[in-house]
Amino acid sequence: MPLARNVVKEVAAEHGACLRPVQLRRTDIDTGHIEHVLIPCGHTLASVCPPCAERARLLRAAQCREGWHLDHEPVIAPEPATEDQRELITGRAEAQEVRDLLASAGLDPTDLDERIGELDQQITDAGMRGNVIPPRTRRNRSTRRRHDAAPLPRRPVGSRTVGKTYTAPDGKTFRPSLFVTLTCPSYGKVTSDGTPADPDAYDYTQAARDALHFAALFDRFIQNLRRFVGYDLQYFAAIEPQRRLAPHVHIAIRGTISRAELREVIAATYHQVWWPSTNVVKYDGDCLPVWDDHTGTYLNPDTGEVLPTWDQALDAIGDEDEPLHVARFGARFDAQGVLAGSRDASRCIGYLTKYLTKHVGHCHQVSTDAQIGHAARLADALRYEPCSPTCANWLRYGIQPRNSRPGLRPGACKGKAHRREYLGYAGRRVLVSRKWSGKTLADHRADRRDWLLSMLGVSATDPARYTWEPVKPGDLDHIPNGQRLLHVLADRQRWQTALAEARHRAALTLDADHPAAGRAA
Ligand SMILES: [Zn+2]
Ligand SMILES: [Zn+2]
Repeated sequence: MPLARNVVKEVAAEHGACLRPVQLRRTDIDTGHIEHVLIPCGHTLASVCPPCAERARLLRAAQCREGWHLDHEPVIAPEPATEDQRELITGRAEAQEVRDLLASAGLDPTDLDERIGELDQQITDAGMRGNVIPPRTRRNRSTRRRHDAAPLPRRPVGSRTVGKTYTAPDGKTFRPSLFVTLTCPSYGKVTSDGTPADPDAYDYTQAARDALHFAALFDRFIQNLRRFVGYDLQYFAAIEPQRRLAPHVHIAIRGTISRAELREVIAATYHQVWWPSTNVVKYDGDCLPVWDDHTGTYLNPDTGEVLPTWDQALDAIGDEDEPLHVARFGARFDAQGVLAGSRDASRCIGYLTKYLTKHVGHCHQVSTDAQIGHAARLADALRYEPCSPTCANWLRYGIQPRNSRPGLRPGACKGKAHRREYLGYAGRRVLVSRKWSGKTLADHRADRRDWLLSMLGVSATDPARYTWEPVKPGDLDHIPNGQRLLHVLADRQRWQTALAEARHRAALTLDADHPAAGRAA
C-alpha cells in the first residue's frame, strides 16, 4: 500500500505545489488582523523542491526566449537615486577625502579603509549597482599578449545590441540569431561513457584548472567577440558538464556571426592566471604552517619565519615567469543559426535550461567503476588546486592566502569548487548579459504574476498595507510541515481550477469576437 504522506508529496508535485512551503505571519497595519500565508521555498535544485526548481527553470526559459530575437533596443533606465542612497554617497566621498589626506601625510589610514569598506557594503545593500571606484588592479601583466595566439582585429564597440534583419526577395524578413556550444580542450582520449581510455595519461591537472577558471575564460571570450563584431553583443549562457565531467557552455547569442569568424575569435581567446607557482609542495602531512595570534600571520613551523603574504608572492612573479595556467577553449565548437519563434529556438532553449535544476556533478549518472574512478581522480586533482587567492591550499605552497585567518588547512578549503558536486566549477550556472531582455529575473517573475492576476481577475494586494514576519518552529501558531503541505495543495488546486475556467471564458470571448482566430487558438 502506498504511504499516505508520500502520496501527498506526489500529488503536490503534480500540481506544482511547493514541497517545503515557508510560513509567514501577515499583519494588516490598519486593522491589526493577522493571517498566515504560505509561500513557496523558491529553491532552484530539483533534489530539494522539484516544483520550485521547475518554476525557476521555466522562468529562465522565459527570460532566454524574450531576449534572443529582440527587435528593438531594450530600454534600461535605472530608477533615480533615493535620498538615502545620495546620503550614503556623500558619506563615502567624505571618508575618501579624509583617508587620502591621512595617507598623503604619511599617517596610517587603516581605520578609514575599514570604514570605507563598510560604506561600500552599505552602498551595495542600499540597492546601487557597481562600485564607486573600480577595484584597483595591482598589475597589468595579463594584458601582455601571448605569441602563441593570433591577434584579433579590434573594433570600437558600438551601443547597438540588436542583430541585423535580412529581407528575402519576396519581402519576408528574417532576424537570425545564434546557438553556440564551446567546450574545453582535450585532456586525453575518452571512451563513449566519458571516461579516459588511459587514466594515467589523462591530464587531470589541466582539467581541474580549466574548470576553476572557466567563468573567466568565458568572460574573455565575450569581450573579444564584442570587440571583433563592433557592437554590444548580448548573450544568455548556461554552463554544464559534458560526460567527461569537463564544463562546456551553451550560448544563445542575439544576432549572427559566421563560423569562420567564431573560429577566429575562439582561437585567439585565452585567459592567463597570474598566480604564484604551485610546482613545489613546501608543507604537507603534519608539517604545516602555524598561525601566530600576535602578528596575525602564518609561520614556518620549524624556523618561525613569516610566510610571504599573497601580495608579496604576486610581486615576486617576474617578467620571465610563465602564468600558473593558461585556459583556452577546445578547437571544436558547434554553431547553428536559429530563427525567431522557430521550433529550433524552442529546442535550443530546452538545451539551455535542461540541467539548471541539478548540481553540475549530478547532471550525468556516475555508475560504472570506470566512471566512479574518473570522478574520484578529478576530485583528487581539485583537492590541492588553489581555487582563489583566499584558498587555504596556498599554505601548501608556502604562501599565506589573501585575508588569512586561523584554522586554514591545505586540502580542506571550504570553497565550493573543491566539492564533488561542483566538479571545479563553482560559478553561476546562467550568465546573462545586462541588455538581454532589458529585464531582471524579478521583472520576469512579476510579469508572470501580473498575467496570472489579470487572468483570474483579482487585484494584487498592496504591499504597504502589511507587515510580514517568519513563523519559527517554536512559535504557538507554527503549522507543522505536513499540514502546511495539505494547505498548499488545496490552495493550488483551487486556483488551478479558477485558471482553467478563466482560460475557457477567454477562449469563448475570443471565439465570439474573431471566430477564425478563436478556432485556430
Ligand atoms: Zn519549494
Ligand atoms: Zn580553495
